[in-house]
Amino acid sequence: MERNGIAGTPDMIHTVTLVPGDGIGPEVIGSAQRVLDAAGAPIHWEERHLGSGSDGDGDPLPSATLDSIRRNGVALKGPIATGTTGARSPNVGLRRALDMFVQMRPARSMPGAGSADVDLVVVRETTEDLYRGIEVSAGTREAEHLASWLVAEGLDDGLGPNTAFSIKPASARAVRRALEFTLTWMRREQRRRLTVVHKATVMRATDGIYLDVVADVAGSATDIEVDSCQIDGACAELVRHPQRFDVMFMPNMYGDIVSDVTAALTGGVGTAPGANHGDSVSVFEAVHGTAPLHAGRDEANPLAMIRSGVMLLEHLGERDVAHRIDVAIARLLAARSCLTYDLLGTTVGAAHTSEVTQELIDLL
Ligand code: NAD
Repeated sequence: MERNGIAGTPDMIHTVTLVPGDGIGPEVIGSAQRVLDAAGAPIHWEERHLGSGSDGDGDPLPSATLDSIRRNGVALKGPIATGTTGARSPNVGLRRALDMFVQMRPARSMPGAGSADVDLVVVRETTEDLYRGIEVSAGTREAEHLASWLVAEGLDDGLGPNTAFSIKPASARAVRRALEFTLTWMRREQRRRLTVVHKATVMRATDGIYLDVVADVAGSATDIEVDSCQIDGACAELVRHPQRFDVMFMPNMYGDIVSDVTAALTGGVGTAPGANHGDSVSVFEAVHGTAPLHAGRDEANPLAMIRSGVMLLEHLGERDVAHRIDVAIARLLAARSCLTYDLLGTTVGAAHTSEVTQELIDLL
């Protein structure tokens, strides 16, 4: 396989790291694995663990898992639980350890799921911004020091006591790297319009870099139309005219939030897939998290994870198998006879995860 790549040779068996994850992860990953296998995907799965499901000494980012993903270049990953306190998110840690710098979350209308005519991709840079994890807690010596330094440098006229900080770094290098990856992908997928989403009217120093880099790198492109939209306007436009967007490129945190909106437009997080890319590895995962209240109940929607598997297959150059699964999903949604509770809007008559899985296999 060519690294990031795309396109293996015909008859190639791809080794893919499979990470079940936490909560509903093992159920939806198991479903995706069954559907890809039934569709004839030439994949050998190598199961490894992350998060609370990790083996051994409880390390949430075991080196055996990182090594497996580095070696194979690709993984299909279930969601990992993250708390609001304590250690940094294993998801952020994974992206950093594998130097995955860009994330793509497509949102496409399908019959019976969400509003019509949406076919867009939310792309976010994933190494910087507020999700970098530079957090300074209120009441610490560091927070007091930072507050005083801001006043001493004339950057602020005095914050109140016990102020906390989350720091938003941005660099032209990181934005350029994510943008260049995106443009290469757009040309391959024949996507023609790039909208940079920002709030540079307020955050000139950081979001302003997005406007500058896009103008510099893509401004003179003749094959890609480039425009920009402020984040608040973009959210309003997504509600009113989502068809206006094709590829939306933005900083890390906006992308996380906007992709939940675009998922909701097209069936909800239960159907929304995604991919994280670096120069030499790609990790495919659903937009949703561990949905702990639904874990172990055979009721989670497996479609987001299966569609992440479809993205994985496309990335590996296995487009025929990917297309067959896509068609089966479209038929399943159109029939509306075997849908999980989230798509039905009620638990009455809702199908189980295992039933949706079997129905898709039958449709294949
Ligand atoms: P969540 O996506 O897990 O759940 C939000 C709601 O969406 C749930 O209550 C559920 O009703 C619904 N939902 C989600 N997935 C579904 C599915 N497949 N089928 C049907 N309904 C589904 O978000 P959360 O509750 O904010 O997060 C729970 C945990 O997951 C947290 O620890 C969070 O940090 C983690 N998380 C991990 C990832 C990841 O690993 N990539 C992503 C998001 C959240």
